Amino acid sequence: MIASENRSAKTRNILLLGGTGEASALAQALAGRDDLAVTLSYAGRVAQPKAQPVAIRIGGFGGVAGLRDYLRAQAIDAVIDATHPFAAQMSANAVAACAEEGVPLVALERPAWQAMPADRWIDVTDLDAAAAHLAQAEPAPRNVFLAIGRLHLHHFARAPQHRYTVRLIDEPGEALPLPQVEAIIARGPFTMEGDAALLAERGIDLIVAKNSGGAGAFAKIAAARSLGLPVIMIARPAIPERAHCESVAQVIAWLDHSAPSGGVPDQRGV
Ligand code: NAP
Repeated sequence: MIASENRSAKTRNILLLGGTGEASALAQALAGRDDLAVTLSYAGRVAQPKAQPVAIRIGGFGGVAGLRDYLRAQAIDAVIDATHPFAAQMSANAVAACAEEGVPLVALERPAWQAMPADRWIDVTDLDAAAAHLAQAEPAPRNVFLAIGRLHLHHFARAPQHRYTVRLIDEPGEALPLPQVEAIIARGPFTMEGDAALLAERGIDLIVAKNSGGAGAFAKIAAARSLGLPVIMIARPAIPERAHCESVAQVIAWLDHSAPSGGVPDQRGV
């Protein structure tokens, strides 16, 4: 068989780093392609991840070294990082491991939300700054909707005067690390109307949110806008330079034009 036949017959192994709606959309879009063998990777934070039309693996790789081993053992030809914009550790590990192994990497990055004139955002740099604001600038008790997930709630223990509402995908297995906290168990997507009703019902007067971008998590921000509520908006963490796309269609175009391994030209903003 001549080399070009070999090459065209090769199925490329794609590692898709997931945990977002965009990763699920990519899995849907790529599932029917017989030139690609896609494996979607979850961290394992959610008890029952969404069913997917591609192979799934669950759990951390074991840092950069573990990811390098995985890329080699599974003969991965390209990595798509479609993790959440706040999953900075995984994204940094992917940049390092792919560079070291010469595996092409592209990130699917949703644009950040931008404040509109009707928004009352208090911009902060990170979770600690959000908690510091609540501790120092808000001495009187407030009803706070803490829309930051489960893992980082402990940061807010330094502002114990507030009553917190958190929304989680799974029942927390253990007591939440805040003195006055109530959990709502629900899985998105949510609607602006539904979130406005929830905020009003619970007498919420302040929201803490990550600037996740995208449509899926925007309902609470739109609801806050409609109710005139302030939002402590946490900026995205820094992630090392990498090629990136802003849509599923752009990632597919990248896959179709990238080399099977290594030697990919600069793809920023494709
Ligand atoms: P992180 O802090 O960047 O990652 C911590 C560690 O978790 C990584 O070093 C890696 O472990 C493992 N990990 C993360 N994403 C993984 C993936 N897709 N597949 C396999 N291992 C993964 O991540 P995080 O902020 O905890 O987010 C965890 C997951 O939840 C991600 O899949 C993300 O897309 C999703 N998510 C996060 C947020 C958020 O606000 N952070 C919101 C919605 C969804 P090893 O070092 O052992 O490889």
